[in-house]
Amino acid sequence: MHRQRRVVVAGASLAGIRTAETLRDRGFDGEVVLVGAEKRLPYDRPPLSKAVLGGQASPDDIQLLSADRLAALDLDLRLGRRARALDPAGKTLELDDGEPLAYDQLVIATGSAPWMPRDWDLFQGVYPLRTVDDCLAIRSALQGSPRVAVVGGGFLGSEVASTARRLGCDVVLIQPLAAPMARILGSEIALACAEVPLAAGVRLVCGSSAEGFDGGARVERVRLRDGRMIDADVVVVGIGARPVTDWLAGSGVHISDGVLCDHRCATSVADVYAAGDVARWFNPLFEQTMRVEHWTNASEQGAFVARALLDGGRSGSYSPVPFVWSEQYGVKIEIAGVPQPTDRIRIVEGTLAEQRFVALYEREERLTGVVALNSTRSMLKYRRLLAQSGSRGERVDAPSISS
Ligand SMILES: Cc1cc2nc3c(=O)[nH]c(=O)nc-3n(C[C@H](O)[C@H](O)[C@H](O)COP(=O)(O)OP(=O)(O)OC[C@H]3O[C@@H](n4cnc5c(N)ncnc54)[C@H](O)[C@@H]3O)c2cc1C
Repeated sequence: MHRQRRVVVAGASLAGIRTAETLRDRGFDGEVVLVGAEKRLPYDRPPLSKAVLGGQASPDDIQLLSADRLAALDLDLRLGRRARALDPAGKTLELDDGEPLAYDQLVIATGSAPWMPRDWDLFQGVYPLRTVDDCLAIRSALQGSPRVAVVGGGFLGSEVASTARRLGCDVVLIQPLAAPMARILGSEIALACAEVPLAAGVRLVCGSSAEGFDGGARVERVRLRDGRMIDADVVVVGIGARPVTDWLAGSGVHISDGVLCDHRCATSVADVYAAGDVARWFNPLFEQTMRVEHWTNASEQGAFVARALLDGGRSGSYSPVPFVWSEQYGVKIEIAGVPQPTDRIRIVEGTLAEQRFVALYEREERLTGVVALNSTRSMLKYRRLLAQSGSRGERVDAPSISS
């Protein structure tokens, strides 16, 4: 009997769900099997450091699909199951219980997982933040206004510090550079932005990183590389994430800090594509390979890959302008493009002092990225401009307003 064409998606979160939805929305009537390591129905992660951690939203509020939508998609959803190995010659995915799952086309959407140095999470009271379960554990640990140390001053650490502070905790944010988010924003902009957490009462410990923890079974102190000790009852670690590719070892799929893909998101192996946090693809707009750990990319790349599966890769190139937003201390930060701290930075709207501005990042007279604080409407305009210019870049004539 003729078997229906089967698309298997490994990873049942944002990128995987968007792939499945787009396949169905475009009329694919074969089998769609979605394999997800988490037992929960697929959910959205950004609220985990914001509304869910803060108690304004519950896990039920952040599901990616309603029950009706899920039923209409007619998916073979394998939750609580992990892809363990890939055999491209036999076109088979092996699940953690040994079940072989044949595919015609496979999408790798296994996302990323938090970096946690070995032994760090052996201490009670030390948490990563990636899943709903992580979030609920931290939320319960924040009851009773403990002393909280957040290790890592990127988006995630900054958002956790903001939420913990709003819950009345005594919060210290530890990070190696001159100010939180300096690796992304550059030190001038980051130092200006640091006024926001300071005004909210967060203590910033900059210029050193955590080396380990002291205490008994429970954490009591964070030990810094420069010898300082920070007292803490609860520690949240947000020092970055790694793409989840270990299960692909030996499969022949090329890996280098992510699953390597061409401009169509196709991997080195026939009929296998990748999308979301796990994918490192060639973006022709910026003429470079990139791996982007942002919501908008996971959503758009998942949808793109579905189109590529349906038209055999004739759907052109995946060439988005990377975009991320963050909400902290009542401030909205948006970043588009590929800004680097070493770029020339011009404030073209607002001022750093009023904490409402648009900053353009330029390299060799070309626009590389845009950072906007509380300026969502203007950001739309600059995202369009970046999409037109990309790596070809364009000199943007806008008045330079000093900070
Ligand atoms: C707390 C938090 C806050 C965030 N806030 C923002 C924000 O404000 N703005 C923004 O732009 N981005 C934000 N992000 C990033 C955004 O959520 C991610 O970019 C997005 O979730 C990536 O989606 P994904 O589907 O590629 O990967 P993931 O969301 O990582 O999903 C991958 C899924 O695959 C599963 N999996 C892993 N291995 C296997 C396997 N072997 N077999 C089967 N399943 C497997 C995992 O369990 C997971 O469910 C945030 C992330 C976090 C954690």
